[in-house]
Amino acid sequence: MKLTYSSFYERSIKDPEGFWAEQANLIDWHKPYDQVLDYAKPPFANWFVGGLTNLCHNAVDRHLAQRGAQTALVAVSTETDQERVYTFKELHAEVNRMAAILLSNGVKKGDRVLIYMPMIAEACFAMLACVRIGAIHSVVFGGFASHSLASRIDDATPTMVITAEAGMRVGKAVLYKPLLDEAIQLARFKPKHVLIVNRGLADFVRVPGRDLDYADERQKQMNANVPVEWVDSTHTSYILYTSGTTGKPKGVQRDTAGLAVSLVASMRYIFCGNPGETMFTTSDIGWVVGHSYIIYGPLLNGMATIMYEGTPLRPDAGIWWKLVEKYKVSLMFTAPTAVRVLKKQDPTFLSQYDISSLRTLFLAGEPLDEPTATWIHKAIDKKVVDNYWQTETGWPILAIQHGVEPMPHKFGSPGVPVYGYKMKLLNEITGEELGANQKGVVAIEGPLPPGCMQTVWGDDARYVKTYWNSIPGKMVYSTFDWAIKDDDGYFFILGRTDDVINVAGHRLGTREIEESISSHANVAEVAVVGIEDQLKGQVAIGFVIPKDASNVIQLEAEIMKTVDSQLGAVARPARVYIVTALPKTRSGKIVRRALQAVAEGRDPGDISTMEDQSVLAQIKTVITK
Ligand code: ATP
Ligand code: MG
Repeated sequence: MKLTYSSFYERSIKDPEGFWAEQANLIDWHKPYDQVLDYAKPPFANWFVGGLTNLCHNAVDRHLAQRGAQTALVAVSTETDQERVYTFKELHAEVNRMAAILLSNGVKKGDRVLIYMPMIAEACFAMLACVRIGAIHSVVFGGFASHSLASRIDDATPTMVITAEAGMRVGKAVLYKPLLDEAIQLARFKPKHVLIVNRGLADFVRVPGRDLDYADERQKQMNANVPVEWVDSTHTSYILYTSGTTGKPKGVQRDTAGLAVSLVASMRYIFCGNPGETMFTTSDIGWVVGHSYIIYGPLLNGMATIMYEGTPLRPDAGIWWKLVEKYKVSLMFTAPTAVRVLKKQDPTFLSQYDISSLRTLFLAGEPLDEPTATWIHKAIDKKVVDNYWQTETGWPILAIQHGVEPMPHKFGSPGVPVYGYKMKLLNEITGEELGANQKGVVAIEGPLPPGCMQTVWGDDARYVKTYWNSIPGKMVYSTFDWAIKDDDGYFFILGRTDDVINVAGHRLGTREIEESISSHANVAEVAVVGIEDQLKGQVAIGFVIPKDASNVIQLEAEIMKTVDSQLGAVARPARVYIVTALPKTRSGKIVRRALQAVAEGRDPGDISTMEDQSVLAQIKTVITK
């Protein structure tokens, strides 16, 4: 029978237990669960209660019989010019060795292991080794410096930290070990051991008794055979801190069985990947996209995955497509920000390689603007699928689910609610549910489906208060994103609720204004913020990076005219500043709160999650000129 989206979705909402019990068959169980869902204490949802399973078994061991000799992991570094390929059998052996290293150095089930590593194969071994023995990993993005790292060490209190002495970026060594040493110095909590993968890229100092050398430890464990630890479905698999766009990273805690089931199901219904195929996700293991779609999603689904250390531009802007050709990649996943980087390059780089294996390019992490979507679609001539989700949910909330029904796409929309998510648009002041063409907060009625966060690590009260108590009169999960839905039920994300501005009583999403500004031919990138205004309450201010910087004399006036004609004078920015860079997080998202602070002449506060801290100073100069 042919699936339709509407019946599939309906069933997931009306009969969640029946729906998810079916999906649960997609993974291996050591012991079946007794209860599909325990929702006795909302908003805490426990899925597959009473079952025993293991993530590493499902990602690696269970594929050995059928595809032991097939590729599981390709670790490519264009920085060190290395390509390492592991079959499922080889990955299994490495994960066993790593698991034995953890056990022999005192890491036990339930202990935390912090992973602070570049995009190398050992990082994948480390994550899988943790879940194999029931330890809880917390991967911290390698771009974070000591201060951010220290606060995460204090929050997660890891028994062990796994690191490398250095990563490489654009040909230069990026030091990890000294930053980690400093972080441990700063932190109140002291991990017992630091395991170091020495890549030979930089000198470093060893702390006797605490520091362990991975190569030495691995030598001792060459024949290791560590049985998987069968853990309860609800056993915590990992903690991951949100990327900090709004300033306060939260420790998102996830379970085991719900995560496994939700990810395999998403591989089937959203990503349409088949066992034996290859997925190339260009994110970093320090982000949720890396957890779900570099490591767990593809491996749980019996697919090969590519880990990539390097930029999209080195040795040239064709590198990604070269890898697609070489490894016959079927699915690719990246962020709009990376596509915008490619868009500035010579387009012939995109047509040099045979990318016929590629079916779909998935994009997520930030709004996909129409010019970017159109450009990449034309450039590679493949399906481009936007999907909207958060660290908190672990897998998409909004998407066109091609494995269910290949519905048409609409530019500017990540699509329709994904099965399992009871999505609502609510008025954030009255809590009232809104219909089509009304702007509101994207909210999800509980229970959240499997795979979503269980709680904030160590702080149930913060979880409830932050996510479930923000809308008056209702206990619903708030995404803190602002959206509108059309008559066909397609959602259009308008920005974060923090970014909604109120101009003379009109509520405007900064994203709407940005979308309008970016339709101007000479706009490469744009950010809009609202700043205080005595007369109107707030006014919009635009920051624009032009494509052609030699031709900007009329740009501000032209942009104002564009917004006037598309959205009306009420949305017209009071000023448009022409800048050379925008402040971004290390995950590539624009930090609007910092722009707003600078535009209002305030101190931007904690900007440690920002990629390049000098950008704000430059912007300050432009504003005060
Ligand atoms: P923090 O929560 O620490 O401030 P963050 O929200 O940037 O950081 P993530 O969980 O990585 O951390 O990002 C999720 C957010 O990214 C969403 O809430 C939304 O604002 C934005 N986002 C993700 N995908 C899309 C998309 N396809 N379209 C529009 N916005 C998106
Ligand atoms: Mg967030």
